[in-house]
Amino acid sequence: MNTINSADICVIGGGICGALLARKLALAGSSVLMLESGPRVGRGELVERYRHSAFKSDFMAPYPFSEMSPHPVFTPEANKYIEQVGPHAFQAQYIRMLGGTSWHWAAQMWRYLPSDFKTQSLYGVGKDWPISYEELEPYYYEAEVISGVGGSLETGSPRSQPFPMEPVPASYFQQRVTERLAPDFKVLDDCTARNSRSFDGRPACCGNNNCMPVCPIDAQYHGGIAATSAEKAGVHTITEAVVYKLEHDDQGAITAVNYYDWNKTSHRVTAKTFVIAANAIESVKLLLMSASPKFPNGLANRSDQMGRNLCDHPAIGVTFDVDEPIWPGRGPVSPCSIGQFRDGDFRREHAPFRIDISNSSQVASVTKELIGAGYYGVKLEGSIRDRASRRMSIKNALEQLPDPDNRVTLSDKKDALGLPTPRIYWDIDDYVKKGTVETRKRYDEIAKQLGATNIKHSKEGAFSNRQHITGTLSMGKDEKNSVTDPFGRAHDHPNLYMVGTGVMPTVGTCNVTLTAVALALRTADKILSEARHA
Ligand SMILES: Cc1cc2nc3c(=O)[nH]c(=O)nc-3n(C[C@H](O)[C@H](O)[C@H](O)COP(=O)(O)OP(=O)(O)OC[C@H]3O[C@@H](n4cnc5c(N)ncnc54)[C@H](O)[C@@H]3O)c2cc1C
Ligand code: SF4
Repeated sequence: MNTINSADICVIGGGICGALLARKLALAGSSVLMLESGPRVGRGELVERYRHSAFKSDFMAPYPFSEMSPHPVFTPEANKYIEQVGPHAFQAQYIRMLGGTSWHWAAQMWRYLPSDFKTQSLYGVGKDWPISYEELEPYYYEAEVISGVGGSLETGSPRSQPFPMEPVPASYFQQRVTERLAPDFKVLDDCTARNSRSFDGRPACCGNNNCMPVCPIDAQYHGGIAATSAEKAGVHTITEAVVYKLEHDDQGAITAVNYYDWNKTSHRVTAKTFVIAANAIESVKLLLMSASPKFPNGLANRSDQMGRNLCDHPAIGVTFDVDEPIWPGRGPVSPCSIGQFRDGDFRREHAPFRIDISNSSQVASVTKELIGAGYYGVKLEGSIRDRASRRMSIKNALEQLPDPDNRVTLSDKKDALGLPTPRIYWDIDDYVKKGTVETRKRYDEIAKQLGATNIKHSKEGAFSNRQHITGTLSMGKDEKNSVTDPFGRAHDHPNLYMVGTGVMPTVGTCNVTLTAVALALRTADKILSEARHA
């Protein structure tokens, strides 16, 4: 066991946000210790685990589960790690392992729209952010350069510099769908951190369609790469270190963190500055677990905002068979989407949304469907070829508005280390429900334009999670209705910062991680400038 127990800065959580913040601080000369609750596992082992998995559509399947640092599991049976107490189950999917949840993502790295930062002043809904798009723009670019992002120029998010990466060439699927849907629907290249050429010591995408749950050749960026680059920059990492409590002095400054190793031996780490980067659910858990006589409702929670305003992108989907073979399954799984419903005055009335077009291979789902319908032998084989070549699957990302009742708290249940598991209350309001009505209309128009048959909408009233978890550590200028200041510093604790998607006050309509990374890089600058002034 590594015994290092102090540093200038202690970062809790080795996911993409914690690792890239830690890297930036180390490159600037700070001593940084990163504590990660999960194990260190290499890409080769993950690919091998996926190869042998019986559950190929389960993105969590390759990622080792540990009782010591548990995460939610849904296949083959739900482990009920999260206690669900609301009308809708919040099916959060996250990985507790060095590199974090973005190990199994689609590497979509979108910027918010400028309007996403001020929906209250523009449309009278949601919240205004304490910072503007323009303030974040340089950090968006810094994050895009680190991870190698390419994408469409027509997203509505202004750029001061060109994308650092050219997009991966469009597959036949993407070309045909784009042509057939024009001009009513404009299909754009997704903004993704995916190599179209050798970059950063990693190869170009070879189009084998395995991006989720793991890219076998690291052509797409993820938190594991971020953690490795942090270590190369000098960050000291301790894995299997489950932080369970923060200590503070009489003024509320944080003095130490305590973690259990996987033998349940407790260790104490001191630092000048602490950064919590343990994701939008586990960070809340940790701060609530750290309650003390001075802060009986948990740290950073004098405002009673901790864990509230939990948002995700609730999604509904549709599948259908196009009237020509379009051959999904060659090229990246998330190549393109329709962005024209992301913004407009209609946001006063109903949720905006982005329509995500999947290019995942449809062979497994089509085969299951056909066997279920009694097909076998030659007819089964021919039908698989026919339907899998024409099957199209799309889903959306609806903006959910912050609601203080949607909340993460502590459950009475305990994990193997005796730590409470998360409890979540989640409901979906009429703003989203009205957005689903609009979405279904668009889905039907798209299906019609593609001459579709066998159209299957997702069940009325059912939503899936998109894993874009925001709001629980919301930043704001007013300490009465936010958890951190505009730099991610806890209102209640001068040397405690938070990074990750939780600090984002609203969820917008695009995948959230690029914005969280940009904010983390900005927080790193703030920590460095505070250190200089001290
Ligand atoms: C299937 C899937 C696909 C996705 N695709 C995309 C996408 O294409 N684009 C996008 O923008 N987003 C995507 N996301 C969301 C994205 O993965 C997350 O937004 C992102 O990983 C959040 O980064 P983070 O660093 O804040 O948290 P995480 O990546 O979750 O990292 C947090 C780290 O903290 C550690 N930790 C937790 N508790 C403790 C503790 N007590 N002590 C010490 N360490 C702790 C965890 O082990 C973990 O390593 C996807 C998510 C899923 C599940
Ligand atoms: S298609 Fe996806 S999995 Fe295959 S190389 Fe490209 S990024 Fe990696």
